[in-house]
Amino acid sequence: MTIRFYDFRSDTVTRPCAGMRAAMAAADVGDDVYGEDPTVAALEARVAGLMGKDAGLFLPSGTQSNLIALMSHCGRGDEFIAGQEAHCYKFEAGGAAVLGSIQPQPVENLPDGTMALGKIEAAIKSDDPHFATTRLLALENTIGGRVLPEDFVVAATGLARRHGLATHLDGARIFNAAVRSGRDAADLAAPFDTVSVCLSKGLGAPVGSVLTGSAKLIEKARRLRKMLGGGMRQAGILAAAGLYALDNNIARLAEDHIRAKRLAEGLAWFPALSVEMPQTNIIFMRVEKGLADRFAGHMAANGIRVSGRYGETRWVTHKDVGDEAIEAALGTVSGFFGA
Ligand SMILES: *Cc1c(COP(=O)(O)O)cnc(C)c1O
Repeated sequence: MTIRFYDFRSDTVTRPCAGMRAAMAAADVGDDVYGEDPTVAALEARVAGLMGKDAGLFLPSGTQSNLIALMSHCGRGDEFIAGQEAHCYKFEAGGAAVLGSIQPQPVENLPDGTMALGKIEAAIKSDDPHFATTRLLALENTIGGRVLPEDFVVAATGLARRHGLATHLDGARIFNAAVRSGRDAADLAAPFDTVSVCLSKGLGAPVGSVLTGSAKLIEKARRLRKMLGGGMRQAGILAAAGLYALDNNIARLAEDHIRAKRLAEGLAWFPALSVEMPQTNIIFMRVEKGLADRFAGHMAANGIRVSGRYGETRWVTHKDVGDEAIEAALGTVSGFFGA
């Protein structure tokens, strides 16, 4: 019997479909470091428009996009505030500190992905030579698949502005948040000075992120991109995939959310699994102690790939796991429990 693999590890594992590949092959290109790639320019303008910002910058990864945002807002020895669970703090290999000489000030995330406003305010340093200068508040939406409550976003960014801080949104999955909440991505982006968007997550492009913000900040970011080695030449081939993704793969994120809900409900049926009900396309689950290793082995042996890092099992739905993948996953889990 040949085993079919269903890959629930991340929404980054999607492969470009035939239509996307055709768009890439047909892309009009030029040297983007010379500012001569029309497809890259079109993508940057498009994402900037979707976020309601003046300008955009196409980047090879979300990690570089966040790093460049942090370096655009903060100088050497400055500080940014971010959630303890924020990607730009926890999952980017300490890049802000290593490459930007920027000190992170993490603040504990509450279970809904927010942070206590009092803790954010307490973390903002006064003007005292003992302290680093706090320059920026960075939020993330969705965070761990959860949509940030709008009243929190408004209050936290308002607080930041009152203290003279800039604001950055890691919107790697901002379209998941927009689709789930029925709101325009531009509305979700509006309270922030800069917003970073990933094309290579649920949108299904092979590569790329776009950082958006004011024309002045993006000009600075463009220099930093060159410095960090992110200047790409005939990158229109990649930007074409991004444009295709924006044309075709935003509304369909709702399907990923529905499938995640169905999968989570099916998993929650088993008493040995404690499952967090997903808001978007990411499910976190804990397997009863003592069973975890055997469970992981059974899933892997049956072609169901899930992410088991950082102490939790994570399932992510995306365009390359359809209804049959959900059935196969739940069938495999049933088989494990002998149900
Ligand atoms: C994936 C991700 C990033 C980084 O994107 P890469 O392209 O993998 O570097 C940043 N922030 C969040 C929230 C992400 O999920």
